[in-house]
Amino acid sequence: MNKIEIKQQYKQSFYNLLLSLNENEFILFNTLSNAVVRIDKEIKEILEKGDFDKLNSALLEQMKKVHVIVNKELNEVNLIRTWRKTHLKNMYLNPRVGLTLVMTYSCNLACPYCYEGDKKAKGGLLTPEKIDTILAFAKKHKVSGRDLKISVTFYGGEPLLNWKGCKYTLKELEKMKEDNVITDYFAGFITNGTLITEKVIDAINNYNISSMQITLDGPKDIHDKRRIKINGEGTFEEIIENIKLLKREVTNEKFHLGLRINVDKTNYKRIPELLDFLKKEGLGNIGISYGIVRGNIPYCSTCMDTPFFVGQDLSKYLTFLWKEAYKRGFQIATRHNLKVSYCMYDRPFSYAIDPNLKVYPCWEMVGEDKYCIWKDY
Ligand code: SF4
Repeated sequence: MNKIEIKQQYKQSFYNLLLSLNENEFILFNTLSNAVVRIDKEIKEILEKGDFDKLNSALLEQMKKVHVIVNKELNEVNLIRTWRKTHLKNMYLNPRVGLTLVMTYSCNLACPYCYEGDKKAKGGLLTPEKIDTILAFAKKHKVSGRDLKISVTFYGGEPLLNWKGCKYTLKELEKMKEDNVITDYFAGFITNGTLITEKVIDAINNYNISSMQITLDGPKDIHDKRRIKINGEGTFEEIIENIKLLKREVTNEKFHLGLRINVDKTNYKRIPELLDFLKKEGLGNIGISYGIVRGNIPYCSTCMDTPFFVGQDLSKYLTFLWKEAYKRGFQIATRHNLKVSYCMYDRPFSYAIDPNLKVYPCWEMVGEDKYCIWKDY
């Protein structure tokens, strides 16, 4: 293909977003493919002017592969429609039942902003008997001749306080897979990271546990004021040691450890310091995401000074935080491609279930009776 043909055949994707790191460096984010590419000023200008013939062939191919450059006649909106249809069809024909299990509302920490609020007082555990009820319900999604997969997220409170229930669930899922009741299962934990023991590591290495999310709230002095034990002690050092333990001992190659960093207006400036600390401790290759602290108190952004990010704050502060993480080489977890996939609220066969066997459409709603969609009595 000659230079003129290259220029005529391609265009920049409509879904490219540019974020400047400095005068000469930019992050290009394609919201359709979720590709994140670091480019310099020269490449930026080539893309803007459509001078694709100035790219070397390897780079042109790479840009096409990640959907930054597309064929001129491609209608990207139609492409999304087709993806969406295929996605929906697969979702219904080969169901994946998503179970977010509130193993307990109890927690060994007492974070002042705890989103669980007074739900923690509700206590209770998901016992093996209750787990049997839930898995029997999940099995009912089986359609003869089709795959059935189950994905479980252990949630809380602090799910590892109910280790017996977690282990029981994993064993039962493994048994269901062996008996061909399900094609496969996937499990993940959302934990505060203080209760990682050899037993937990052993389970990660022997079951299909693919993810764990642990939370930090900033450098030690900030974290230790916010992620505190019931007796007021900080948890920073314990969590860092547990992250290192996981990095050292987990051999399951499918396992992905993610660090969620909670941010609000009071701690965001100190996050670069935390990132530097993590790198120094050999944890620079960990995937991070930013959690927006919302707190469990109602507030109004216009009539009250709030420590939480509201409205446009998010774009301002998160841009700063992403840049700081990129600069240091951290992998950033972005949200799923929202144009073709759905959060659990919208997905069929996804349920958040609490220790009282109350079912909610989303984990953010657990414990709120007004959102309960089904209960076992
Ligand atoms: S670790 Fe999570 S559940 Fe426990 S007190 Fe803190 S925010 Fe609440």
